[in-house]
Amino acid sequence: QHAKKNKLEQQIYNQQIDVNTLERLQLINELKSAIQHGELVLFYQPKLDLTLNKVTHVEALVRWLHPDRGMIPPDEFIPIAEQMGQMNALTRWVMNEAIDQYLSWKDQGIDLGIAINISAENLKDTNFCQYVLDVISDRSVPIEALTLEITEDAVVSDPENAIKQLRVLKQYGLKLSIDDYGTGYSSLAQLKQLPVDELKIDKSFVQNLMVNLDDQIIVNSTLQLAHSLGLRVVAEGIEDEGALKWLAERGCEMGQGYYLSKPADADTLVAWLVNSGY
Ligand code: C2E
Ligand code: MG
Ligand code: MG
Ligand code: MG
Repeated sequence: QHAKKNKLEQQIYNQQIDVNTLERLQLINELKSAIQHGELVLFYQPKLDLTLNKVTHVEALVRWLHPDRGMIPPDEFIPIAEQMGQMNALTRWVMNEAIDQYLSWKDQGIDLGIAINISAENLKDTNFCQYVLDVISDRSVPIEALTLEITEDAVVSDPENAIKQLRVLKQYGLKLSIDDYGTGYSSLAQLKQLPVDELKIDKSFVQNLMVNLDDQIIVNSTLQLAHSLGLRVVAEGIEDEGALKWLAERGCEMGQGYYLSKPADADTLVAWLVNSGY
């Protein structure tokens, strides 16, 4: 009886894998044209300055509005884009779209810095730096309006090259941020060499901050470490008022999370901004 049940479970499991593989193959085929045919859209999530109590920046987060499947989250297609060499096309699209939005907001008197996520693949492209600098100067965007968020892992895979490229960008005045801090394997020695302005504590340490004492210890010592290295800290994954207050009291400079706002389309974000008083 038991063996029979196991076999059935195995069959169901196998079928599941087949469906997933098939869907994945379809997505791979479709992604390239999705980038070209305008199926990607940017959502924006506010980054609240905890000392000013004011939203000074937003993070651009990409979604795929698939004609049949609806909205596909980035965790489902960014890895595919990385594997099939589409990350440069994707990041270029994101950067231009985010700059369009920045300029349109500026026209309306809304001044928000924009953060864009960069992947390891981008740093491997030797033309990436120059592309970023060209876009910024072609479109007359003040360079300090743009922040690039880079995950720890993207740096760890090839630290020498990453540090070299990041130094060039930093030299020109771009703001650089280490994303998902605490989940990768960067050493303190590497962290010290990175020309970054900002450290983003991963949401896994922040989501349960009020009930998890270990998380409090980790976040506290990360704040101290970052501050003694002269970096500002952003906490992502703030889901309740308690965490927001706790972080503000301990000198965390910025906060981001569902408690404030989920990522939303540009119009919804602005409506929220007006309503919330931030
Ligand atoms: P990330 O850059 O670390 O972005 C934060 C993610 O955490 C976002 O998920 C955001 O919606 C989510 N989040 C923010 N606050 C909370 C919270 O309070 N609770 C919970 N549970 N989640 C929260 P999203 O938008 O699904 O993006 C996932 C990841 O996909 C991003 O993580 C980033 O690594 C990647 N990604 C998104 N857009 C881009 C892009 O344009 N380029 C690249 N290279 N990667 C991107
Ligand atoms: Mg990010
Ligand atoms: Mg993050
Ligand atoms: Mg993340």
